[in-house]
Amino acid sequence: MMKEAIAEAESALLHTYNRYQIVLERGEGVYLYDMEGKKYLDFASGIGVFALGYHFPGYDEALKAQIDKLLHTSNYYYNLPAIDAAKKIKKISGMDRVFFTNSGAEAVEGAIKAARKYAYLKDGRTDHEIIAMNHSFHGRTMGALSVTGTPKYREAFAPMIGHIRFADINDAESVKAQVNEKTCAIILETVQGEGGIHPAQASFLEEMRRLCDARDILLILDEIQCGMGRSGFYYTWQKYGVKPDIMTTAKALGGGVPVGAFLMTEKVGAHSLAAGDHGTTYGGNPFGAAAISKMIDLFEEHDILSHVREISAYLEARLDDLAARYDRIRERRGCGLLQGLACNGPVAELIGKALDKGLILINAGQEVIRFIPPLIIERAHVDEMTGILEACLEECGKQG
Ligand SMILES: *Cc1c(COP(=O)(O)O)cnc(C)c1O
Repeated sequence: MMKEAIAEAESALLHTYNRYQIVLERGEGVYLYDMEGKKYLDFASGIGVFALGYHFPGYDEALKAQIDKLLHTSNYYYNLPAIDAAKKIKKISGMDRVFFTNSGAEAVEGAIKAARKYAYLKDGRTDHEIIAMNHSFHGRTMGALSVTGTPKYREAFAPMIGHIRFADINDAESVKAQVNEKTCAIILETVQGEGGIHPAQASFLEEMRRLCDARDILLILDEIQCGMGRSGFYYTWQKYGVKPDIMTTAKALGGGVPVGAFLMTEKVGAHSLAAGDHGTTYGGNPFGAAAISKMIDLFEEHDILSHVREISAYLEARLDDLAARYDRIRERRGCGLLQGLACNGPVAELIGKALDKGLILINAGQEVIRFIPPLIIERAHVDEMTGILEACLEECGKQG
């Protein structure tokens, strides 16, 4: 019956994904079940969305209560969940102003508009440039795609928004070489996710902060994948003490409800987007906002950040052990519960074998296995994952 469902999907959906051949039906904790009842340990969490796993106590109840009150109002009016969510996200991020969106890409779009407007108000120019990183990923809409540093994602959709220059993460000189009087912003992921799990180094982030301060360029940090607790800090930049002028967040923010946000400091908030400059029908709706608000409450009540710091050290040790014992694995990279094993050669076969054995893993590029589990995993889940992964590595042959 799963085969028939997949055939129906393929006859109706636009084929923009080569999907794994399973239909997922329900989740419980850190496990997913397909429609035939097969159980999977989930180390992808809907790509970093299900930070608290499936049906975390209190989460569903909060959403159901909001459904019974009000789902949507439009942004012509205030609503209490959005006020609540805004206060809480300001507190955990240390930023001053927030704009809620429905997705990560939309948050990036807003960040780009805010940066351009900030520069426009300063000098009146309409040819400002943004510096982005090679191998970055910021989303699929035209603005977000324009700052995405993977040419194959962009090529067929040219022209991009234009005036974007690319440099290399962790190479400050390559960034400085692109700066000129038109530069309005530098955008980067604090940990590159899709591009292969490349964390920005502390010294690079500090250098970017100095460069931006010296020239009043805005530093935009995209925390959509690495943010919201995954690093053991709410936002990964907090680990380094390098505060952005604008930051983006989404994925885990709603814990399963599609939401995002871009946030800024008061300096940017007071001198960029004003009434009439930006908007959204759904962004900040009571339902999405209730999800954000509850997620932050649950993070606080259960001290999720401390748990992530502890469990991620264990995950790192187990992955390092595998990397030391299998020639196929080149290195482990990552931060907190966003980890990658860079391999010699493609990892698709390994990931396929893992799925057969009831373990959901995803890649980050052709040669990197990505580990982005729910933040509530315990040691036993890490052991279960490495046990299955090791069996797959054995089957694929030690030499790869
Ligand atoms: C996933 C992702 C996005 C895009 O988010 P969507 O919700 O898919 O639009 C942007 N930036 C980063 C770093 C991401 O990982």
